[in-house]
Amino acid sequence: MSNENKSIYEFDFNLICEYYSNLERQGPGSPEATLKALGFIDNLTPQSHIADLGCGTGGQTMTLAQNTPGEITGLDLFPDFIKIFNRKAERDKLSNKVRGIVGSMDNLPFENESLDLIWSEGAIYNIGYERGLNEWKKFLKTGGYIAVSEVSWFTDERPQEINDFWMEHYSEIDTIPNKVAQMQKAGYIPTAIFILPETCWTDHFYAPQAKVQEEFLKKHAGNKSAENYVGFERYEMNLYYRYKEYYGYVFYIGKKR
Ligand code: SAM
Repeated sequence: MSNENKSIYEFDFNLICEYYSNLERQGPGSPEATLKALGFIDNLTPQSHIADLGCGTGGQTMTLAQNTPGEITGLDLFPDFIKIFNRKAERDKLSNKVRGIVGSMDNLPFENESLDLIWSEGAIYNIGYERGLNEWKKFLKTGGYIAVSEVSWFTDERPQEINDFWMEHYSEIDTIPNKVAQMQKAGYIPTAIFILPETCWTDHFYAPQAKVQEEFLKKHAGNKSAENYVGFERYEMNLYYRYKEYYGYVFYIGKKR
């Protein structure tokens, strides 16, 4: 099987974790986009409870913590990410309001109706957008918000190559109006949507990977798995540069009815 046809799930998780541990973020985004999304949330107080699901090493969580009242729990499946997350919280003197825990987004450790805000940047795809919106709703208080970023089509039609890539890797990718309709159907009032600027991919996600890839390949010289993984990442980046007018990340913000 060529790298292009390999799913990310077929690579060694330890290698993936090591690769991404060296990056500030594990998905497209930026502090500016996080703050813009946060600007639509109007219910937070020092007593608020916020969960950041699929938080990774916490790039966006620390931005949130510096700009919101309330406590934030970051949750991620990978213990190594959570270790880095908690070290960052200490480094930034945020341990009093931010804590990272290991867990899975399909089995959340929160009480029903206990959260004021659920945040998830570039991570809800792990459970699926519709399933995540539906299953996570019970943890929100009425009037609580959900803010997720999700890969979406910008047009109704697109070239075969990019359509095939996404159908294979995340077939739930859909157009913005369809994603908004799914949010409404799941019981939220769609409050805001915006497309993340290209720089969230180019400057904040792909550019930092170039250096990481070089060091990663040097460290794992001769390791086919590592080489294939970098090959996959480079292929995905190349697709983005060629087809970025057809898809990108979109922030969807909704309020629980
Ligand atoms: N939110 C971070 C960001 O934007 O930089 C990370 C995004 S990364 C593309 C997706 C994250 O989801 C990874 O940190 C991964 O470990 C996490 N993840 C994957 N499956 C998960 C699950 N079932 N429960 C919780 N986290 C999960």
